[in-house]
Amino acid sequence: MKFHSTKKSENDKSVGLKEAVLNGLAPDGGLYMPDTIPKFDGDFFQKIEGMSFPDIAFEIAKYFITQEDVPESILRSMVNEAFNFEVPIIELDKNLYVLELFHGPTLAFKDFGARFMAVLMSYFVKQSKNKITILVATSGDTGSAVAHGFLGVKDINVVILYPSGKVSMLQEKQLTSMSGNITALEILGNFDDCQKMVKQAFLDEDLKKSIILASANSINIARLLPQSFYYVYICSELRKTGKQIVISVPSGNFGNLTAGLIAKRMGAPIYKFIASTNINDIVPAYLATGIFNPRPSLSTISNAMDVGNPSNFSRMLELYNNDVEKMREDVCGVSFTDAETREAIKKVFDKYNYIMDPHGTVAYLGLCDFLKNSDKYSGVFIETADPAKFSEEVEKAIDKTVPIPERLRTYLHRKKQAVLLKNNFSELKDFLLNKPQNNHKKYK
Ligand SMILES: *Cc1c(COP(=O)(O)O)cnc(C)c1O
Repeated sequence: MKFHSTKKSENDKSVGLKEAVLNGLAPDGGLYMPDTIPKFDGDFFQKIEGMSFPDIAFEIAKYFITQEDVPESILRSMVNEAFNFEVPIIELDKNLYVLELFHGPTLAFKDFGARFMAVLMSYFVKQSKNKITILVATSGDTGSAVAHGFLGVKDINVVILYPSGKVSMLQEKQLTSMSGNITALEILGNFDDCQKMVKQAFLDEDLKKSIILASANSINIARLLPQSFYYVYICSELRKTGKQIVISVPSGNFGNLTAGLIAKRMGAPIYKFIASTNINDIVPAYLATGIFNPRPSLSTISNAMDVGNPSNFSRMLELYNNDVEKMREDVCGVSFTDAETREAIKKVFDKYNYIMDPHGTVAYLGLCDFLKNSDKYSGVFIETADPAKFSEEVEKAIDKTVPIPERLRTYLHRKKQAVLLKNNFSELKDFLLNKPQNNHKKYK
């Protein structure tokens, strides 16, 4: 399997998995995509029936990762190591399901992509015997999932950029309290600024000369591919309902949704996707008008979706040959305000005694909007974070305390350690050039 850049520059050749994973971003600044999207064999869904999530993940991974990239026995143990947690499907009501993707170590769905990428990258780095620095911009959850995946891995340093004051208290604790090979940079800007600084770092000639950078954002193909696995899993589980499957995805940078579109292209029987966003509705607006108009992100209570220029949009465009009509056949877009989100958190709690986090709630609203009480479909919304990660907001909405899972509680008393930087690329560059490898940190 080879990968090419979404920019399709003339002199860019397709590269193998290892190069695509270690490069992160293609040299022309585009994002890697598989040269062809593999198709499941005709009996694939019979074969995976009743299989566990890691078993299904392994069966799909083999379509993208060949023996030359990673020997099959190693791939098998990578999958087991990365997905060592539950993937529950909750039936909230008739034809209404929640796919809970927050049972990994950092309590957000980012663990799927980040943990798989970490095992894959560690394997490739070990082969190359280089020291690498992983640069990652986070709107809240990516940073800790990536850092957790790489914590203590030899020859890999992780530098996380997060927007100051724009992540929840527990998210910040998670981001800033892992020491050792992990450094958190608190940027005086928003997520888009962080993302821009990371992109710029990859194109900077001076940095290229002095350190080996790798990217760990959802732009890395190793994060994107494993996110397709749970779409296949849910299809495998819901096939028996005999109804068409509709999945609502709470979206920001659109890695999650793009992975779903890839799963569908491979042959997963998904009738429709709903791109559910908060008021950062760039993609729903594109679906409505055919015009992609990125703009600065606005802060909301579903902060991990506060993205004004979704990176993965270029991959979505490629999947549909820039044809908005074609994309509309598979995807509808819809956006919601914070007030609607708060109200739905309360409504669902009162009706089902189920606590949603603000991100999953946006997906819930998108699903309800599509289903409009029809029982034609099996409707699924993706819950991407444990509500305890956003307890400040959720507790206000339901007027009750949200239980904090043990593995999140351990962060509560940890000390924040972050380096404060201005929203300015030269600050990041200086930091990377002068500080690099280990630990001269300014503690706050
Ligand atoms: C990152 C994130 C999202 C958005 O996912 P994208 O792949 O960026 O669209 C939604 N919810 C939570 C909790 C997240 O951390």
